[in-house]
Amino acid sequence: MLYKQEHHIFREAFKRFVAEHITPNVDAWEEAGEVSRDAWRAMGEYGFLLPWLPEKYGGYAADFLYSVIIMDEICHAGAVGFFAPLHSEIVAPYIMTYGSEEQKTEWLPKAASGECILAVAMSEPNAGSDLASLKCRAELDGGEWVLNGTKTFISNGGTADLTIVAAKTERGVKDSSAISLFLVPSTAPGYRVGSRFSKMGLHSQDTAEIILDECRIPANMILGERGKGFKYLMNKLQQERIVLTIQAQAMSEKMLEMTVNYAKDRKAFGQSVASMQHNAFKIAKMATEINIGRAYLDSLVFRHMKGDNIVTEVSMAKSWVAEMANRVAYDCVQLHGGYGYMEEYPICRFARDIRIFSIFGGTTEVMNLIIARSMGVI
Ligand SMILES: Cc1cc2nc3c(=O)[nH]c(=O)nc-3n(C[C@H](O)[C@H](O)[C@H](O)COP(=O)(O)OP(=O)(O)OC[C@H]3O[C@@H](n4cnc5c(N)ncnc54)[C@H](O)[C@@H]3O)c2cc1C
Repeated sequence: MLYKQEHHIFREAFKRFVAEHITPNVDAWEEAGEVSRDAWRAMGEYGFLLPWLPEKYGGYAADFLYSVIIMDEICHAGAVGFFAPLHSEIVAPYIMTYGSEEQKTEWLPKAASGECILAVAMSEPNAGSDLASLKCRAELDGGEWVLNGTKTFISNGGTADLTIVAAKTERGVKDSSAISLFLVPSTAPGYRVGSRFSKMGLHSQDTAEIILDECRIPANMILGERGKGFKYLMNKLQQERIVLTIQAQAMSEKMLEMTVNYAKDRKAFGQSVASMQHNAFKIAKMATEINIGRAYLDSLVFRHMKGDNIVTEVSMAKSWVAEMANRVAYDCVQLHGGYGYMEEYPICRFARDIRIFSIFGGTTEVMNLIIARSMGVI
């Protein structure tokens, strides 16, 4: 119902792109700790970055389902560490919604072509779930903003050309109205990439620390209005969390598919591992949960595209799907036996990579807080 013929055709075309430009390179990216610039440029060249972008900025004004398809297929390919979805669906929309015409014209065409990689830096060593307590400061000095602070766990942080940085602009203001957003190019004086983190999973993702040490940017690099940064971040959470839910859902589907194929083939005690009733029921239960996840997600994608305010429902989906996908990962590794623990089998990487989905973009506990608050029980 949701997807039309043109979406199905697009999915097939994107799958061919993935088979040619992504799948053969994933192992090398995992080894290198980052995705090659060539892949970003190829995505841009074929129109797979920011597909929703209006034509005047170099995009195709495609509906959100095209973005969903791109995210699905990147995840199905085991390339979730390629954070094109963060770039296209989380960071660029801030510029589109809150940027000045000058900022949009300057940065969005380059983001769509893959020339400019985007990141967003909210988290700090002592401010993750409790974002309003961030310490990074921005002060006006003549015609420039001067930023000081350390941002941590920043996805695309090692390679980003432009990062949206959340910083406090008001002294003596305790609440979140002290926060503003800035567009900070990696070429700005005082901008430095710190540690690149060695992580449990997402090995091809260049998650890094960003250090701003007397970092100077022109006054017109503030994004939107001064003091509105926290509000902007909150306004975009629905989009950010639906994007993460889509990825976790797609990964759960692929994990089950790989596992069913493996377990049907693998023999023990004279029969296939899948046909043993305990395992068959485990598979049936996973398939049921995955289908429930997809049905709920599709309904939210539809409402999101209509512009409904569904922050609570998206929080429910993010929390449930991420936890469900982690249960699926555990059971799928188990069904692979020892082979599931071997790098040679893709389930091994999927199981590592899925773990973060109940943590980043707001933890499961933070999702539960939002849900509970919306019900008036907290
Ligand atoms: C791989 C990776 C990529 C990331 N990418 C980015 C990025 O691109 N940009 C960015 O800005 N950030 C990014 N982050 C940061 C991420 O969003 C935070 O790690 C996350 O929000 C949690 O914050 P924290 O790590 O400080 O944990 P904390 O906030 O210290 O939480 C620790 C634990 O306490 C729980 N907790 C906290 N508050 C409550 C509460 N009120 N009630 C109950 N439990 C609570 C949490 O759920 C968690 O279990 C990334 C993190 C990782 C690991």
